[in-house]
Amino acid sequence: MKVLKVSPHIYKLESWFLLKMSAWIVRDDDGVYIVDTGMEFMGKRILKEAEKLGKLKGILLTHGHSDHVGGLKKILDVKKVPVYVHKHEIKYMEGKEPFPGRKKAQSLVPPGLVQPPEESDGGALKNIGNLIPFHTPGHVVYYHEKDRVLISGDLFTSKKGQLKPPIAMFTANMEEAIESARIVKQLNPHIVSICHGDDVEEPHKQIDKYLAQI
Ligand SMILES: [Zn+2]
Repeated sequence: MKVLKVSPHIYKLESWFLLKMSAWIVRDDDGVYIVDTGMEFMGKRILKEAEKLGKLKGILLTHGHSDHVGGLKKILDVKKVPVYVHKHEIKYMEGKEPFPGRKKAQSLVPPGLVQPPEESDGGALKNIGNLIPFHTPGHVVYYHEKDRVLISGDLFTSKKGQLKPPIAMFTANMEEAIESARIVKQLNPHIVSICHGDDVEEPHKQIDKYLAQI
């Protein structure tokens, strides 16, 4: 597993299993958060790297697909910490309904294990540590304001420094997914950090072209 420093507070852990698989560790004032947990075989190592940097305070998920929640059990077997994902994803992860675009329901976590981030009165998701969650359809992305890094999970892939659409096989509604990239215009991050690809710097320079695909 490769450990890359994305920014002063954010580390990306990269593995390969047919394609690049990543998870993130985000340092806070008094501990660390893990964002996504990769495949099952990545869980132990993610926890080890996280604990080198501080006390684990919680786990945040961008969405419920198995390549993002696979390592969860291995981590929770050792550390009991809260796990957060958007409320809309929980029914799919618990196997109550199939993920959009899939035929069969798949139970990936026991009921009650994963909780939604708190919401303010206006419905916006409250910060978890220094990360601001933003919900896009089928996804949560996490923005670190100080480092200006957008942890984007599967919202994009990339090629040679260019933002590319998410993997079609794992994307229920491609038009909606591309439209969700508008969040980059709103937040203007310095870096978009990508699960199944290399990170992209200064994404504002290419976001209009990206959005013009639809
Ligand atoms: Zn993925």
